[in-house]
Amino acid sequence: MISSEDIAKNLLSVKASISAAAAETERGAESINLVAVSKTHGPETINAAFVAGQKIFGENRVQEAEAKWPELKAVNPDAQLHLIGPLQRNKAALAVRLFDVIETLDRNKLATTLARHMDEIGRRPNCFIQINTGEEQQKAGITPRDADAFINLCHTELDLPVVGLMCIPPVDEEPALHFALLREIAERNGLRELSMGMSADFETAIRFGATYVRVGTAIFGPRSDYWQNQGA
Ligand SMILES: *Cc1c(COP(=O)(O)O)cnc(C)c1O
Repeated sequence: MISSEDIAKNLLSVKASISAAAAETERGAESINLVAVSKTHGPETINAAFVAGQKIFGENRVQEAEAKWPELKAVNPDAQLHLIGPLQRNKAALAVRLFDVIETLDRNKLATTLARHMDEIGRRPNCFIQINTGEEQQKAGITPRDADAFINLCHTELDLPVVGLMCIPPVDEEPALHFALLREIAERNGLRELSMGMSADFETAIRFGATYVRVGTAIFGPRSDYWQNQGA
């Protein structure tokens, strides 16, 4: 397991890189939010990041987040949890209760279901719409072609709290093209926030306007087997 010292050190180094990339584009580092992706890691590891001052975290599986986060949040009430993995409709109500931000809104039926649950539960986590910029068959996200109509449906018809767009570029392509496309779609739809960039490419993403970067490995090291060992 990674030590608390290494997590603190990694956080400092990621933040320094964020500041440097922000300075290049004449933006303040405070305009870029660091989402620490804690998937697969156990509570001790996550707590070390809290102690080092990190507030925003990302998880990609609803069930894993449900097992880990209620306790973590009880101890760290100002933590903010982002859902960054695919959301099934039968987990939508749970996601509305558990997460502060849902980054993976990507289809009509899910949008309708989320809107209904938000009304019923009386909790309205901000949403990002996930765009499948590479139009990859196996990947979640709405296609760039369908993006404008979907954003309009979410905003105007369903009154969902959509704040921005999110993408995960194809692994074997130059990410910059995808970041530029995401920004273009956001700009023409009047959306301010862009969630893009991971450990390998967050500095590039910042040059292309990212306001949220999602960084796992560069903070916590390789994925852990903590979660598998919980019998999941
Ligand atoms: C795991 C994950 C990340 C973080 O990836 P790293 O390469 O470990 O930084 C970012 N975004 C999503 C959607 C992820 O699933």
